[in-house]
Amino acid sequence: MKSKRKVFNNYEKINGGDYFVCDDLGRWGIFGEEEFAKISSGEKDMYSPEISGPWTEIEKPYRYPLLAKENYCGPSLHIMVITLACNHACLYCRVSPEAGGDMTTNMTARTAIKAVDAILSTPNENITVEFQGGEALLNWPVLKEAATYAMRKNVTAGKNLLLSIVTNFSLMDEDKFNFITENGISVCTSLDGPAELHNKNRRYGKTGAHDKVVYWIKRFLKANPGGEADSLPYALMTTTKHSLGMPEEIVEEYRKTGLGGIFIRPLSPIGQAGKIWEEIGYTPEEYEKFYSACLDKVFEINRAGDRFIERACVLLAKKLLQHKDPNYLDSKTPCGAATGQLAYNWDGKIYTCDEGRMVGAMGDDLFLLGKIGESSYGDILTAPAARTCCMASCVESQPKCCRCAFKYFCGLCPVHNYAVQGTPWGDINGSYWCGIQKAVFRTVLSAIKDEKKRDIIDGWLDWE
Ligand code: SF4
Ligand code: SF4
Ligand code: SF4
Repeated sequence: MKSKRKVFNNYEKINGGDYFVCDDLGRWGIFGEEEFAKISSGEKDMYSPEISGPWTEIEKPYRYPLLAKENYCGPSLHIMVITLACNHACLYCRVSPEAGGDMTTNMTARTAIKAVDAILSTPNENITVEFQGGEALLNWPVLKEAATYAMRKNVTAGKNLLLSIVTNFSLMDEDKFNFITENGISVCTSLDGPAELHNKNRRYGKTGAHDKVVYWIKRFLKANPGGEADSLPYALMTTTKHSLGMPEEIVEEYRKTGLGGIFIRPLSPIGQAGKIWEEIGYTPEEYEKFYSACLDKVFEINRAGDRFIERACVLLAKKLLQHKDPNYLDSKTPCGAATGQLAYNWDGKIYTCDEGRMVGAMGDDLFLLGKIGESSYGDILTAPAARTCCMASCVESQPKCCRCAFKYFCGLCPVHNYAVQGTPWGDINGSYWCGIQKAVFRTVLSAIKDEKKRDIIDGWLDWE
């Protein structure tokens, strides 16, 4: 008599009538309707040789790498908000930036030095210090002093230290370029697509900043000939409603700029973006269509012979196919708030993460952990906000997520929940965040099931 017991824990219907089935060890498979019917009735189990095929990953459970201790050895990303001032007026900016000339929200050199001291005394051996704003270059003297001090102090601290500057490039010049490249500092900028789209999303003066962004990306790429094509500099795109009709043009813009890949990212309905969501937002279904079209264009470029990656796809594929946690802080359980990253505000306040700091900039300190020079590392990691974020972002303790087949490969954002639903815990059932995660899962899993696309994705897995 055949067993009727269910041998899998969760399933999700994905594209093309297939089902994604995942057990509690993170072993998964993609099955057609017929096979799925046999599995769900108990006639077969997903591990049977006659039912498992090339689309199953049943040998290597994912749950163990997810718990690897190297992922939990203190925050590695330290964000120094060097100023709130900005000279852009981007549609979706999640902080209301201060006027470009207003330097009252500049971090002082004294605070910056104390922040570096605090950062280099945290336990993780791998430390990234990210200088950002507002527009970080508006407080260049302090940024330069803090970067120089960090490099000098690290001679004795002995960390694997990476310095990075997030900038819109509008104030980049030869002196800054030389300092950055000579000291091996990386830069990260925003590029939303072709000039028409970029300048519509990211408003700057009368002409927009697109051409300047492209110019400096090319200069930095040229200065880093030994690096990976997709390493230095980084560029990030943010999807607005205006992007939805331009997937091919956006991908092509990245390719022709010389970047080795693109990171397709959804917009969060937080802060300013939330206030004008009707104008710039979209549904998860619209995002899925857009993301799928972007990915198709990326595959087309690869089929024509160029290696050009899509990072959201790689991050997921590393978990699904390589059984590795890429330590992407917004997509792990618990998320990276406080345990993976810390944000040091211009005024010395320390927050769970950059997004928590943005909530603070709107006058709400729910995600505040402490103050530079006053709070110990222990105070910070045991602050109520740190504990709240850990509990709220643990997929296994969320009633909706704990029954979801994607849970081991997914992540939750307490700041998003709080901004959109009024509580860090949130209501995941039907939440926008969840809708977007599922859209990405369905698209990537469909690509993995397509033999030709899978070959291309396999070729990206060495990306770090
Ligand atoms: S450049 Fe950055 S800080 Fe300035 S308005 Fe745009 S998103 Fe906001
Ligand atoms: S957020 Fe949504 S997709 Fe992610 S684990 Fe939770 S229920 Fe699943
Ligand atoms: S709270 Fe949200 S933004 Fe902050 S680290 Fe967690 S997932 Fe990322």
